[in-house]
Amino acid sequence: MKPAISIVAPVYNEEEVLHELHRRVAAVMDETGETWELVLVDDGSRDRSAEIIAELHEADPRVTGISFSRNFGFQVAVTAGLDHAQGQAVVLTDADLQDPPEVFPRMIEKWHEGFDVVYGIRASREGETWFKLMTAKLFYRIIYRITSVNIPLDTGDFRLIDRRVVDAIRRMPERNRFLRGMVPWVGYRQTGIEYE
Ligand code: UDP
Ligand code: MG
Repeated sequence: MKPAISIVAPVYNEEEVLHELHRRVAAVMDETGETWELVLVDDGSRDRSAEIIAELHEADPRVTGISFSRNFGFQVAVTAGLDHAQGQAVVLTDADLQDPPEVFPRMIEKWHEGFDVVYGIRASREGETWFKLMTAKLFYRIIYRITSVNIPLDTGDFRLIDRRVVDAIRRMPERNRFLRGMVPWVGYRQTGIEYE
């Protein structure tokens, strides 16, 4: 049986946080009553991430893992995750808990309302340096100006994506991929929700 929701997270040297990630994802997703899977893509980590993913899978078969032969980078890891996700919707999230799992239910709610993409908008970025805040702000505004694709401001890769959008993206032959640009480019009904 395919799960309703796939949570996809790229993993690079995240040994310290993976158990906590699984614990919080399971708590939040079990609360929603949806069937789910957690797809962890180990992007050639140099720490124990790959072993921990295997242990998590042993303990909870809803966790599945992909292990890369070396570090290929975020975009490639996410692409592999989208290829392996079975769900009717995919929630793309960082593994390091900077995207709080507690936001997933609100994304799923919007999906049930009929939206195909629900992206997270950062209302604040606590704990980040002035330099990071300023360069991030600048990045979004420059990207916004130089491309005709409507990339939402202050939005990372954290988002829910419906199966038909996932399939559209999987059909794109782009090799140098920029998911944050590709997802808005394909169209469909997209909306954002704010989170801390
Ligand atoms: N990541 C990855 N491959 C890389 C670098 C990062 O899969 O080469 C993962 C990382 O484990 C995390 C997510 O991508 O889950 C975002 O990375 P990071 O937290 O370093 O980025 P930032 O917080 O600056 O957006
Ligand atoms: Mg991070």
